[in-house]
Amino acid sequence: MLELHSLKKKFGQTQAVDDVNLSIDAGQMVGIIGRSGAGKSTLLRLINRLLDPTSGTIMFEGKDITKLRGRELRLWRASCAMVFQQFNLVERMDVLTNVLIGRVAQHGFLSSMLRRFTDEEKEMAISALDRLDLVPQALQRAGTLSGGQQQRVAIAKALVQKPKIMLADEPIASLDPANATRVMEALRKINREDGITVLVNLHTLDTARNYCERIIAMRAGRVRFDGAPADLTQERVREIYGTDDFDAEIDEAVTSTSFNAGRTAKEKVYQAV
Ligand code: ADP
Repeated sequence: MLELHSLKKKFGQTQAVDDVNLSIDAGQMVGIIGRSGAGKSTLLRLINRLLDPTSGTIMFEGKDITKLRGRELRLWRASCAMVFQQFNLVERMDVLTNVLIGRVAQHGFLSSMLRRFTDEEKEMAISALDRLDLVPQALQRAGTLSGGQQQRVAIAKALVQKPKIMLADEPIASLDPANATRVMEALRKINREDGITVLVNLHTLDTARNYCERIIAMRAGRVRFDGAPADLTQERVREIYGTDDFDAEIDEAVTSTSFNAGRTAKEKVYQAV
C-alpha cells in the first residue's frame, strides 16, 4: 500500500500540492484529473522522489520513502516507473536499446551506456516489446516511430524496470484519439495482468471514467474528490470545477490547436479556459 500523509510542496509562493492524504492499495488503477496547474504532475514527481516534499511523508509497504537516500532511492525510483507526455526516449537509438535503458537502475549508468546487457535482460526487453505489439519495430530508430508507438516503447521501458507502481504523467495528451486508446489499453492490461498499481494523470474525465476504478480530482493542489467513477456525478464536477462539462471545456480548447503541440502550447490552451 502507498500512503501519502499531509503531503505538501511549495514552489515560491505557489502551493502546488496542498495537504494531500491518500491511501492507494496495491494493484489499483487510479486516474488523477484536474486542469493544468492543479498539482497532478507535482504529486507524481513527489511519489517517485524526483521532487522532495516541503513537508509530509510518503510510505510504501510500511517504509518511509521520504527518507531514502543513495542506492535505496535509486531502487525506489526504479520500482515506481514514470511515463511522460513527451515519451523521453533517445530518438537516435533503436527501440530495443531504449527499452534496455530501463534497466539502468539495476545495472549502473556506465555499463548501460556501454550496452553491456545480459541475454536475460535482452529477452526481458523483447518480451516487453512483444506485449506492446512492437517487436517488428525493435531495431528501428525510436525517432522514426509514431507518437503512439513511441509512448508504447516508453511503457515497455518502464516495464523492464519491474516496477511495483507505474506513474504516467499525461501519457496521452500529445496523441490522437486512436493512439490514445491503444496507450490507455496497454496501461490497463499491465495493471490487470501484472497487478502493477497505475497512477495516471489525465485531463479528460471521460478517459478516467473509462479506464480507472478510482478517480482523484485535484484543484489548486488539493484533492477535491476521491472515489469510484460512478460517484463523481455531474453535480460534484460542477461543485469542484464550476462547470457542468469539464471535458467539453477542455476538448474545445485542445481541438483548436494541434494534438502534438507539446506541453508549453497545452499550457497556453489551458490558460484560455
Ligand atoms: P498539473 O500537472 O496539474 O498541470 P503541476 O503539478 O505541473 O500541475 O503544477 C502545479 C503548480 O505548481 C502550478 O502552479 C505550476 O506552475 C507550479 N509548478 C510546478 N512545477 C514548478 C517548478 N518546478 N517551479 C515553480 N513552479 C512550479
